[in-house]
Amino acid sequence: MDKHYDVVVVGAGNGGLAAAAVTSQAGFKVLLLEKHNIPGGSASSFKRGRFEFEPSLHELCAVGKPDQLFDTGKLFKRFGAEVDFRYEDNTFRAICTAEDGYDVRMRAGEDNFCDDLEAIVPGCRESLKAWFELERGDQRTLDYIDSKNGKPNPLMMILKHGNFMRDTSYTVEEVQKALGMPEKARNILNTYWGYLGVPTDELNSFHYMTMVASYVRDGAVMPYKRSHEMSLALEKAITDNGGDVWYNSEVVKFLYNEDGSCAGVQLKSGEKIYAKEIISNVIPNNVYAMSDIKYVPEKELRLANSRTLGLSFVTVYLGMDCSKEELGVEDYTTFISKYANPRECYNHRNEGAYYVVNCHNVAIPDASPEGTCMLFYTIPMMEEDFPKDLKPEEYKKWKNSVAKRFIEDSEKVLGIDITSHIEEIEVATPVTFARYLGTPAGEIYGYQMAGWDSILPRIMAAPTDFTVKNLSYCGGHAERGDGYSCAYMTGMLTGDAVVRRLKGGK
Ligand SMILES: Cc1cc2nc3c(=O)[nH]c(=O)nc-3n(C[C@H](O)[C@H](O)[C@H](O)COP(=O)(O)OP(=O)(O)OC[C@H]3O[C@@H](n4cnc5c(N)ncnc54)[C@H](O)[C@@H]3O)c2cc1C
Repeated sequence: MDKHYDVVVVGAGNGGLAAAAVTSQAGFKVLLLEKHNIPGGSASSFKRGRFEFEPSLHELCAVGKPDQLFDTGKLFKRFGAEVDFRYEDNTFRAICTAEDGYDVRMRAGEDNFCDDLEAIVPGCRESLKAWFELERGDQRTLDYIDSKNGKPNPLMMILKHGNFMRDTSYTVEEVQKALGMPEKARNILNTYWGYLGVPTDELNSFHYMTMVASYVRDGAVMPYKRSHEMSLALEKAITDNGGDVWYNSEVVKFLYNEDGSCAGVQLKSGEKIYAKEIISNVIPNNVYAMSDIKYVPEKELRLANSRTLGLSFVTVYLGMDCSKEELGVEDYTTFISKYANPRECYNHRNEGAYYVVNCHNVAIPDASPEGTCMLFYTIPMMEEDFPKDLKPEEYKKWKNSVAKRFIEDSEKVLGIDITSHIEEIEVATPVTFARYLGTPAGEIYGYQMAGWDSILPRIMAAPTDFTVKNLSYCGGHAERGDGYSCAYMTGMLTGDAVVRRLKGGK
């Protein structure tokens, strides 16, 4: 017999979990559907031998401390979802091996960070302080936008939030140059560009400032038991609220009423589930592929076709047979680049110009058994970088060769022996992410947040971009863009909007 719910959420990634937590907390009958047998999507963990690896999270931002919580921290508190967060005192070590390169360690905390950069680039402090101040003003604007449920008054935006209107339409580099920031300071400050996959001469200033300021002020936050801990905490909140969570339940079809409104979904098993509201944590491209095309507004198809898919990664997970001290690794996050300038790194990414090495045990010393440690390599890869015509039987050889190349490069750059200490190794590629998450071309970041498709245009256009009645979206592909915090936030805000509608509001 067909089932009926108030809300059906498709996909138990960060966005879907938050949306289901909000709507179930409001007392509605909620069903969360996930094709895998565990929650989280990217926010998960996996085991190889005696190691439990973190598959995705390098650092979580916007958590804060118990006495001063920020957005993500507040979200977990709101749901009563308890997570044992651990804090890192440093933001990153950045090693650039170019002639004009550097090897710098930047401490967390705005003052520490400014002191460290000033020591490396004398005279940059004032521009850096101004940059952080600009970001604080932008946060006030974002609070205002949220208070208006994503529909700010345009006049107020111009009169009271002029800086936000300006810096969200400029690139990171344009804003930093306007503040008089020296080039070397810009290059070091822009080290994080790879987390968003867009070089800083193209990346939206607001988006980058928000992310960096959060990492710098709060430091890196990691859940003690991998990101799976956060996913389980949210799943518990949903079921404690009386919500249903079904695993091994892949949605294969979105169902529509004759008037074009969304009616529900169909599972791979053939079962149909109807709901008053459907929230998709699945990227719109896939929803369209699972819909009768006559119900997909042409405008939405055009929008999807005009967007660029976001970044993917090759990731390498290493379980080491020695401690981090024996290995000689002191830093939680080390960015390694061959060029100082992010654009150069982006253009030469296929030559290994930029990658990240994380050592989980620096943030969480007992993350692996005593006398061992874990390394996590992240190598950016765009859709067009994937080798064309790679045959299935050549795939393993190819991915292992990528891993070998970066492991060997890091041995040279860090001056340590990694290869002979590897006990376990796993390599993931865009193919892995495409298969696991179901995303087109294995993107992990939704749509690229560049130029016209950055955060402010998305927020302003969302009500008119997506018009199918009873169908809403959340996740890394939504207005706030990619990243854990953004996906959680869109899940929460979408859930709030659905609750308002179900209660008869607009
Ligand atoms: C290697 C890597 C490193 C990253 N590092 C960071 C980091 O350091 N910091 C940070 O903030 N972010 C990072 N991210 C990005 C972050 O993980 C994502 O932005 C975020 O998890 C996206 O969440 P989402 O809500 O879009 O869901 P997703 O993680 O995309 O999950 C979607 C869920 O939907 C399910 N699903 C898909 N199709 C169906 C279907 N038809 N039926 C039922 N279920 C379906 C999937 O199985 C999945 O569980 C990283 C990502 C990766 C992969």
